[in-house]
Amino acid sequence: MKSNTGESALCSCVLMLFMACSSSTVESAATSATAVGDRVVFLGTGTPNALPDRSGPGVAIVAGDAAYLVDAGPGIVRRAAAAAQNGTPQLDPANLRIAFITHLHSDHTIGLPDLIFTPWSGADREEPLELYGPPGIGNMAEHILAAYDEDIRIRIDGPQPATPEGYRVNWHEVSPGEIYSDSNVTVTAFRVNHDSWRHAYGYKFETANRTIVVSGDASPSASIAENCVRCDVLVHEVYSATALEGRAPEWQRYHRGAHTSTHELGVIAAEAQPGVLVLYHQLFWGTTPADLLREIGEVYDGRVVSANDLDVF
Ligand SMILES: [Zn+2]
Ligand SMILES: [Zn+2]
Repeated sequence: MKSNTGESALCSCVLMLFMACSSSTVESAATSATAVGDRVVFLGTGTPNALPDRSGPGVAIVAGDAAYLVDAGPGIVRRAAAAAQNGTPQLDPANLRIAFITHLHSDHTIGLPDLIFTPWSGADREEPLELYGPPGIGNMAEHILAAYDEDIRIRIDGPQPATPEGYRVNWHEVSPGEIYSDSNVTVTAFRVNHDSWRHAYGYKFETANRTIVVSGDASPSASIAENCVRCDVLVHEVYSATALEGRAPEWQRYHRGAHTSTHELGVIAAEAQPGVLVLYHQLFWGTTPADLLREIGEVYDGRVVSANDLDVF
């Protein structure tokens, strides 16, 4: 009995050491890139589900003096403020000026009114928001502005100080190809498969020293590997292949057409060969980040990390 206790204490000790090693590996993976200037900051890793610890989808590519957002899930402006406090001033809400929307699903756009108005009314943003996205993004932006017309007029015409341009939106409906370039970054949009959406995009960001590809929402799409090609960071959505089996048949059908399983993503990563594959928009359905990594590991032996909000790569 005594020896059993000793063995179990030894086991616990080894397990704790293993866990400590594992978590430090993950931690260093998530923070090592802060040593370089360009970085990927996760503002939201969530899904349509209102998960308390995960804001809706939002990724920031930070390069030079600017931040370039991908998608506007609910909560990302608060997360950006937190990232600014954590040492990335480019994400101060006043500096949120450029965003790229992958597709018009609500979980990726419910934060758009927040992104349009909070940096203006709460942080005195001077410039309009430059908003890029598929056809329909202009219609959405105009309707949001119309919905908040009273608020805009009160702030502009009333006694409250307000910058004259900071609430405006310059929207750009783009087609696949190179869609944006400045001294920090070149951005390419490419089509991905996503259920019945006619226009769903992934984006490739090329900075002076890194190439970062973001999948958006996608079922397996050849364009991902075509655009990554040993890119530094591949940010990709995922669902648990194992947990899908427990879903209702109609949901299984939907998810197979709209999203990418762990096993499918392993195949994509093996072809794309990214420096690191970072999972976001994870559909766990009761599984854990470790489960997702294990499932991908069954078909892919490269470096994979499951992102949490505010992780930096
Ligand atoms: Zn989504
Ligand atoms: Zn979607």
